[in-house]
Amino acid sequence: MPPAFYTHLRPTPLPAPHFVAASASAAALVGLDAADLAKDDFVAVFTGNQVPPRAKPLAAVYSGHQFGHWAGQLGDGRAILLGELATPNGPMELQLKGAGMTPYSRMGDGRAVLRSSIREFVCSEAMAALGIPTTRALMVTGSTKNVIRETVETAAVVTRMAPSFVRFGSFEHWRYNDKPDELRVLADYVIQNFYPELAGAQSPYLALLEEVTRRTARMIAHWQAVGFMHGVMNTDNMSILGLTLDYGPFGFMEAFDVDHICNHTDQGGRYSYANQVPVGHWNCYALANALLPLIQDAEAAQTALEVYVDAYGEKFDELLHAKLGLATARDDDKALFDAMFKLMQENHVDFTLFFRRLSGLRLQVPDADRERSDMPLRDLFLDRPGFDAWAAQYRERLRLEASDDAARGEVMNKVNPKYILRNYLAQVAIEKAQNGDFTEVNRLLAVLERPFDEQPGNESYAALPPDWASHLEVSCSS
Ligand code: AMP
Ligand code: MG
Repeated sequence: MPPAFYTHLRPTPLPAPHFVAASASAAALVGLDAADLAKDDFVAVFTGNQVPPRAKPLAAVYSGHQFGHWAGQLGDGRAILLGELATPNGPMELQLKGAGMTPYSRMGDGRAVLRSSIREFVCSEAMAALGIPTTRALMVTGSTKNVIRETVETAAVVTRMAPSFVRFGSFEHWRYNDKPDELRVLADYVIQNFYPELAGAQSPYLALLEEVTRRTARMIAHWQAVGFMHGVMNTDNMSILGLTLDYGPFGFMEAFDVDHICNHTDQGGRYSYANQVPVGHWNCYALANALLPLIQDAEAAQTALEVYVDAYGEKFDELLHAKLGLATARDDDKALFDAMFKLMQENHVDFTLFFRRLSGLRLQVPDADRERSDMPLRDLFLDRPGFDAWAAQYRERLRLEASDDAARGEVMNKVNPKYILRNYLAQVAIEKAQNGDFTEVNRLLAVLERPFDEQPGNESYAALPPDWASHLEVSCSS
């Protein structure tokens, strides 16, 4: 890429760097052994204290819309790209987040705190294990350096990996700076490297818009199906590859509320659970706007954007059928799903526990034993008659496809996770890490790497949040 796209610079070293945690599966993707990552040389490299001989680190420029408003130039204000590795699965970029100031730091200090780095690290890997498109996280290192947020915290660096960190905002940058040549270079780069099948299309730029729109819609369908809320869906946090990118004030739905806002800073609820779907579409409009000088056909761009609704609807419908263990699709299934969400909403049912326990619901059970058999699931509801009515509807639907309890339960357990990254689990691991004990970060990671498995001994990680957790707030401060 031409120099206008980035600034070459070295990470700023941190004092007394130490190893916090590494992901074995992320390491395997780039041919590394997680055990090696704890060694001093790797810790030095992945803290930014030592630059590998052939690396030419850089920070990239981009712009974006934040909370619906044009924010102008942003860019890698604290992320530094070490370089790209060739792997058996294609190129993988390695990026240090929190590695010091760059020309794009604006008012920031170029650092990330241990708290937010652990959250990003664990959640990236948990999302990957859930089968959701995401950037990856290789490891976290910490330092004694103080960093000021609401309180004094310490600096950390998380090494992220993705085939590319290009964002919607990378395109918006050239569009709003009126640089069509750079815009074209970027689009050609993305198509050539990541969407080569589109290069032969009649209008590759239009095809790119359509495909990115489709991928974004599907990614968000995955979020909704697992109750993941990103928290800051600004266009600079939207990956051109349709990957979940930039984990900050995210959250997983616990007591179900479609209007839940996970980011304390998001007072208007722009990025609430329900709003993620239309906001994803809005973001694709921003991308379309940016690509318009290349596409040169507003009507065609509009048509390309329309794939969002169907791509989302089809994916979410497919995921919901799987979550309910339905092997076939019927016209009236939507009514069953709607009634379920309405009941979940009214009863503020824990999202994860509900779907996990649903897989234990028995069809082949005598009437007299039904209530007892339903107990674990039924007990999640205050409105027991309401639950019974819905369960009867669900059972009827299962009978229509002669569903087998054991087989259905097994399949459902492979799509309805038992273990998700609840805020309080992250908080416990963070507080221990802040006191120099990293065992809990590693243990939590190990649990979340197998979200669908029954893990005897780790039952407590599937539990509802304790009372103290109701005071937990996450914000943009990271
Ligand atoms: P985020 O909300 O984390 O996606 O960040 C939005 C923009 O602010 C990006 O350009 C970041 O690089 C920048 N930024 C966030 N925190 C810092 C920081 N501590 N120092 C420098 N830049 C930052
Ligand atoms: Mg960001």
